[in-house]
Amino acid sequence: MSEKSTDTLSQKLSNCQQTLAVNKAERRGRNIVMCKVCLTVMESTHRHDFVQCSCENETFVDGGIDYQRIGGRDLSLVEVIESPICK
Ligand SMILES: [Zn+2]
Repeated sequence: MSEKSTDTLSQKLSNCQQTLAVNKAERRGRNIVMCKVCLTVMESTHRHDFVQCSCENETFVDGGIDYQRIGGRDLSLVEVIESPICK
């Protein structure tokens, strides 16, 4: 997975995404989201694991357990199933 391939994606999705940093000490759990449009469940298992569904909302998850970056055309259609962030 190269950094270049994410450029066009982040450009396209720049209006709707959020990143949550995870302190190493607070890490736990997994990084899983679901697209409410196509009901695809996606898990990012490591820092550069960018996973995206194929429907029009283009829901994605990235960052593994180092940080949680999620996004899509409409962020309200992205459901966080599991977060690596201790709350
Ligand atoms: Zn989708």
